[in-house]
Amino acid sequence: MRAVAVAPRLAAGAGGRCLKHVASTPPPITPWLPPRTPSSPAPAAPSRPLSSAARSAAAALPPAAAAAASSAAAAATAPTVAVPEAGSLPSPAPLGTLVAYYADHWVVPLPPGHRFPMLKYAATRAALAADPSLAADGGAGAGGGGGPAVELRPAPPVAWADATLVHEPAYVERFRSNHMTEPEMRNVGFPWSEQLVGRTFASSGGTVQAMHLVMRQGRGIAGNIAGGTHHAFRDRGEGFCILNDIAIAASVAMRDYGLDSILVIDLDVHQGNGTAEIFQNDPRVTTFDIFGDRNYPWKSRRTNTYDLPLPDDTGDAEYLALLQSWLPRLMRDHRPQLVFFQAGVDALKGDSFGRLALSRDGLLKRNHMVYGTALEAGVPLVVSMGGGYTRPMDASVQAHTDVYRTAAYRLAAWARAQQA
Ligand SMILES: [Zn+2]
Repeated sequence: MRAVAVAPRLAAGAGGRCLKHVASTPPPITPWLPPRTPSSPAPAAPSRPLSSAARSAAAALPPAAAAAASSAAAAATAPTVAVPEAGSLPSPAPLGTLVAYYADHWVVPLPPGHRFPMLKYAATRAALAADPSLAADGGAGAGGGGGPAVELRPAPPVAWADATLVHEPAYVERFRSNHMTEPEMRNVGFPWSEQLVGRTFASSGGTVQAMHLVMRQGRGIAGNIAGGTHHAFRDRGEGFCILNDIAIAASVAMRDYGLDSILVIDLDVHQGNGTAEIFQNDPRVTTFDIFGDRNYPWKSRRTNTYDLPLPDDTGDAEYLALLQSWLPRLMRDHRPQLVFFQAGVDALKGDSFGRLALSRDGLLKRNHMVYGTALEAGVPLVVSMGGGYTRPMDASVQAHTDVYRTAAYRLAAWARAQQA
């Protein structure tokens, strides 16, 4: 199938090892933008001066914060918000090791009682790191001991040039420099802070890095324990989403690797309206979306390539049968060269923002179906986070952790089979 031909096409002229990115001159070390105070005027575009200090600042990643750090403590030690002009490429990982980026080194201060469970990201990463079945944080992986492994990497900020492939530069700059209007921020649902800017850029940066990783490998799975912010439009955000990481990474993939068929599988319980609108006139991107029909978004719902709205309380059997019937058809009809999996877990029964009734086991089977489909077809897959709002958050964190653990298991098994 066409997907198999992707790697040779991309490798052409690059010594058999490399993609378009590597074949061309690497982009210069990027300038960074100093943080702007709320009172400073918003510039029309980022400046481009490049000092040696800027080079080293751009090269340095923010230090990882303790997962359980309080918002107040994090606010006092927030790393500087730095937005590189152009993107960088990730270092490769052993075959069979799941690389998962994280953005929780930015801890966003939220007012007491805020309904967004920001700590679930750090909790998911911590659960993966502590899982004895995974040689987490750079374990041997299938390339070494053969067992499943997760390598956790801090996500760098998304590059300005990448973010603005999708988003209007003026919108990105207004957000970065705290010049959004009050109604705009109310639609987003978060109070502005430098940490929010840092986290938002890292959240998209992780998905872009994961995309580069699987595209450079030509196969396999990489993840972002963040992202999946599918309610972000070109010029506005809503529903806790500011930048649309999947749309950005898909657009970077089309620009850098010349892809002409990308499949977005959005299984969050809410429709991915931002992604749908961004790609509504782009035949290169197929958006497939299963969601709760009576869930948000109501007024801002858009049209995906395939929309599958489900009635309240849909359970495992019906959901999984539907997915199983669609996945082969999507692969056959669209022959994707890259798959994005928005793996929201808010279809879980009891989710406070969802209306479906899947079990943890049902979501596990869902994950297996998606990973198995991509691996068997030899199509690279990027998995990102999505919604998950049980109260307390433990059930959501378990389900989020399952998403990445299952990816690590499937990837390791697939790599062993490749090497056999
Ligand atoms: Zn959701």
